[in-house]
Amino acid sequence: MTSKSLLDPVAVLPGVGPKKVQALHELKINTINDLLHYFPFRYEDLKVKSLDEVIDQEKVTLKGVVVGPPVVSRFGRGKNRLNVRLLIDQAVIMVTFFNQPWLKDKFETGAEVAVYGKWDAKRKSMTGMKVLAIKNDTSPEFASIYSASKSIRQTTLVKLIRTAYDAYADLIVNILPQALIDKYRLVTERQVIHGMHFPKTQTEANAARRTAIFEEFFLFQMAIQLLKKREQAPEQGLALHYDNQKLRAFIQTLPFELTKAQKRVVNEICRDLKSPRHMNRLLQGDVGSGKTIVAALVMYAAVTAGYQAALMAPTEILAEQHYKNLQRLFADFDVQVALLTGSIKGKARQAILSDLAAGKIDLIIGTHALIQDGVDFAKLGLAITDEQHRFGVNQRRVLREKGYRPDILAMTATPIPRTLAITAFGEMDVSTIDELPAGRIPIKTSWIRGNQVANALSFIQKELAKGRQAYVVTPLIEESESMDLKNAQAVFAKMQAAFAPTYQVGLLHGQLKNEDKDQIMQAFKANEFQVLVATTVIEVGVDVPNATAMLIFDADRFGLSQLHQLRGRIGRGQEASFCILVADPKNQNGIERMETMVATTDGFQVSQKDLELRGPGDVLGEKQSGMPEFKVADPVADYRALETAQIEAQELVTTGAWQQPENRPLANYLAQQEQNYQNLD
Ligand code: ADP
Ligand code: MG
Repeated sequence: MTSKSLLDPVAVLPGVGPKKVQALHELKINTINDLLHYFPFRYEDLKVKSLDEVIDQEKVTLKGVVVGPPVVSRFGRGKNRLNVRLLIDQAVIMVTFFNQPWLKDKFETGAEVAVYGKWDAKRKSMTGMKVLAIKNDTSPEFASIYSASKSIRQTTLVKLIRTAYDAYADLIVNILPQALIDKYRLVTERQVIHGMHFPKTQTEANAARRTAIFEEFFLFQMAIQLLKKREQAPEQGLALHYDNQKLRAFIQTLPFELTKAQKRVVNEICRDLKSPRHMNRLLQGDVGSGKTIVAALVMYAAVTAGYQAALMAPTEILAEQHYKNLQRLFADFDVQVALLTGSIKGKARQAILSDLAAGKIDLIIGTHALIQDGVDFAKLGLAITDEQHRFGVNQRRVLREKGYRPDILAMTATPIPRTLAITAFGEMDVSTIDELPAGRIPIKTSWIRGNQVANALSFIQKELAKGRQAYVVTPLIEESESMDLKNAQAVFAKMQAAFAPTYQVGLLHGQLKNEDKDQIMQAFKANEFQVLVATTVIEVGVDVPNATAMLIFDADRFGLSQLHQLRGRIGRGQEASFCILVADPKNQNGIERMETMVATTDGFQVSQKDLELRGPGDVLGEKQSGMPEFKVADPVADYRALETAQIEAQELVTTGAWQQPENRPLANYLAQQEQNYQNLD
């Protein structure tokens, strides 16, 4: 006889033929172990309630005596209903089952029965869903509900899981280290499986879930920490021996003193550059916190070490802005700066490509054009992505796949709440600029209703009269680009009616060609017009210090993080700036978002609130965020467990304790996972 294993295919279970194997496979259940870990997504409360504690439309279990024989009647086409009357606490109620005529055998007059269903308080009746066995003291209080599929039914799943558990329970071992189970008063793996599927009491269910959550986070963190350790192995990276003298001299030429936070992050990054460890670092800092200069400094460091550096921005406007800034900064230094975007074509492009490959270019700034085929570096040492949430995880990896192992710095202006940073960027080190340059005047934000726009316009008029400029942001229409444009044009017309001819009004929208967008931005920067009507294309990075007012229509349609980014376009000069949100939110969530914007200009608080109100997708920028999916755990609700899991996983990986004999099941599990990933590639 061959020995049983949790990795046995589900086909070993009685009654599981090729059809069921396929149906289970579609639910990602291939082995006994998969089946045992296919947890219910909710439970039905089977505790019998008395009529006076039941509320209308509640799903409950009631127990009563069958008053008379059930009646099956037909209606419509092939439909039928079964009616049966039950006597419960002196009252007679009607229970109706639809299209389950065979249940009539379960109702013998005078017998006691329990039924689960939905209670209708007005009619004193129940729509029956299930007939239950009369409970004894050891019957479960809950029924587990699984997400089933067309090809496999709920009841089949329940039976299979039960069979698998009975046959394999002995083989279930703890994957979690015993030390952690003891330390955090968790339950054993076998208790997890039992308590998740067949809880007898709420207490058992809670204990199982608590452990399942921790385990899910912990295993995820182990995988991340091991990956990180491997990535950072010395032979994997480059050691950039930069010239500290030159770097200091360069810092002396800046027109301002670096903030403490800027100095700290420059040191963190430079330490990584010098070390042969491969750097994979996230630099986060609020809008206006001065990330660009940090990027410039560390790129210069890389250049003094004899390497090239690349800076990738999500839009052409931003790339060009960076390019101009860097050209100016390095004007008096021996640093060759170049720009490569999609609009640079033909001979110009060829020249840049050959200079880059020959090592004649030190710093290259660009868009996605930088990671396309045909772009080769002589000696790439540092790659930086600006506004990294705009890039997919894959785009960030392309550089590496080109055969380079440059140190990586990803910059983001959306401060990422810690819990998200741990999950989405767990394999990265994080540097944070948590202070703004001195002397900034905080932006004043106010929230008005749609019928108060006239007041806002006269306020903006006053700003314009002082020689300032203003942005007017049009509503976000996610469904269609043409609607977006129509809206923008309508707002544009309104603004012209309000401000022309004294002031010029411009329009910037997503359907313009890049050159045109750029031209408009440059013209606005040059104060050729004073009011810029724009869709969210102005969201990232563009710098016009003379713009001191921003009016945002239908502000409640935007996510908080996005509003914060938009607002960051003003408040960049010496004058006070004003952001006016126009919104008539329909629900509490919308009201809270507007109130948050008014209450704080701190990006960390904004993104924390955004996370609570709208979830990770909105903070990180949708699917490309690289946010893993969890089955039981929720990184937002269960963040404490997440943090604990991270600390413990780090400890096990750094000390190597995970490889000790007592943790063999953990090591085996991780090896198995690794195998699965490789098979996927
Ligand atoms: P962000 O972090 O949003 O990319 P930037 O790098 O664009 O911010 O910086 C915003 C503005 O602040 C720029 O005009 C920059 O020159 C200026 N700045 C950066 N660092 C300092 C500093 N330490 N002191 C004063 N101004 C600074
Ligand atoms: Mg920036």
